[in-house]
Amino acid sequence: MAAANMALSRAIEYGQRHLSLNVRRGLVLLFLLVQAASIGAYLSFDRARIEGDTVRILRNTALLRAEQFDARFQAMRYQLRVVGDAVLLNQNVPLANTEPFLAQELTRGWLDALLITNAEGDIIARSGDFPIDEALDGTTLSLDSFRDSPVSRDLRQPGVNEGLFFWRGNGSRSDSRGFLTYRAVYDAEGRYLGGVIGYLANATLERQYLQIGIRGFDLGAGGVVTVVDRDSGHVLARMGGYAPLPGHADASIASQMVLAGDTALRAHRFVSLIDGARRHGVFLNINQGKWVLVVAASDKAFLHGWRLRTWLGAGAFLAMAILQWMLLHYANDKFLQREHLSRQALHDPLTDLANRRRFDEWARVARSQALRHGQALCVMSFDLDFFKRVNDTYGHDGGDAVLRHVAHLLRSSLREGDIAARFGGEEFVAALAHTSLEGAMETAERIRASIAAEPVKFKGQTIAITTSVGVAQITSDELAANDGMDAALARADQALYQSKKNGRNRVSVASAGTAFRNR
Ligand code: GH3
Ligand code: MG
Ligand code: MG
Repeated sequence: MAAANMALSRAIEYGQRHLSLNVRRGLVLLFLLVQAASIGAYLSFDRARIEGDTVRILRNTALLRAEQFDARFQAMRYQLRVVGDAVLLNQNVPLANTEPFLAQELTRGWLDALLITNAEGDIIARSGDFPIDEALDGTTLSLDSFRDSPVSRDLRQPGVNEGLFFWRGNGSRSDSRGFLTYRAVYDAEGRYLGGVIGYLANATLERQYLQIGIRGFDLGAGGVVTVVDRDSGHVLARMGGYAPLPGHADASIASQMVLAGDTALRAHRFVSLIDGARRHGVFLNINQGKWVLVVAASDKAFLHGWRLRTWLGAGAFLAMAILQWMLLHYANDKFLQREHLSRQALHDPLTDLANRRRFDEWARVARSQALRHGQALCVMSFDLDFFKRVNDTYGHDGGDAVLRHVAHLLRSSLREGDIAARFGGEEFVAALAHTSLEGAMETAERIRASIAAEPVKFKGQTIAITTSVGVAQITSDELAANDGMDAALARADQALYQSKKNGRNRVSVASAGTAFRNR
């Protein structure tokens, strides 16, 4: 952990020292992009997983429901056959007992009403609530006139053995919907003996399915099971879902049935034309493709947790991004502050040259290097000539401009490994690493000449300036001593004094002892 911290702070330090703020901003943005991408990848993976699970539930529910429907209608057909055989074919139920027999049959709960017609199409027995009466003309209610009703004539067509129809009431019972089943009864010679008609109210079916639903898969809030007549778009049964939108059209529902297939393999996204909810659903053909079973879950319900995670993820990312951005700038400000302070501690504010402390640091390193490699090390001391006059004539600001100018000339005359410093006043010091006395004298002379040659421009005036210089090579004894540099500087100062005494604007060299050589 400590090692990781160390590595991290090194990396940050390195970044601050070697990369510009904009590059570091770019890196943080890149880092944020990677974070956003991984959060995004996680969320889309999560969503795909939830959708996969939901589709599996939908598929299984669709298959289960389709089987339940099938079983339901098989049971109805079976009941019609039992009733038809008992009353019309075998006649083991006497006509007088037929109605109690039918009532008894209805207690199984497979049908809401039963009706038996003879070969002529007249109703000979009936039981239960049969809203078909309402759809027929009042005069056809008498038993013997049913034969002429269109329903009866349709059913008694030759070759019709059984049928399953969806029936919707009109008039006073327009809310009643249900399934009509019919079965024709023939004797051994193929003579038509009559038929049995069963009626299952839609409400009964839906009620029973809701009860079964409790034992089935949970489709969540807004989950719905719907049976739609493929061609007409009539909703035959609907379990679950929200309240229907006013005025939904059957024709458009029929057009949505193109989604249906014979297998439950695929789930579709769709907007319900009944209640307007967005759903994932399986559209499965049932009843020989005449009807479509739709089993669907509401996006709102099954994606609820995912949406919550998305918002939380986005919020957390945003907070993280802001925090990282702020940290970058906070660290940058701190770094700049630190840099500024450490620079201030080692540099002269007026000229930005090294101060005494920085010079001493430099000298310690240079001295030990010169000692180790047997290299020469020279120092030079500068004092501007008649500087008081500059101050007097041009003011303190003029003097400062001259000091900055001289500092600039000094800096640009020295090599990378050398140092120029201002200890205060109008006195400067320079030190030249691995440079012989001759080399140092040449450099000093060049600096002196360039100062003398370039007057300083100040507020439209030109200030001519010269400097006196003293040069000294640090002796091997001085190289070995801790205060060797001070001793060499003292000798350079003495040479400087010599330059002043000899008329200024010149370079003097201190010999290794205290004798002076003038140039
Ligand atoms: P000399 O040729 O003998 O050196 O004569 P000089 O007038 O330069 O005499 P000296 O070196 O003794 O004078 C130093 C003057 O430098 C004193 C002061 O007015 C001025 N001075 C010292 N520090 C600063 C500074 O930071 N800014 C300015 N403008 N003047 C300074
Ligand atoms: Mg002075
Ligand atoms: Mg001076």
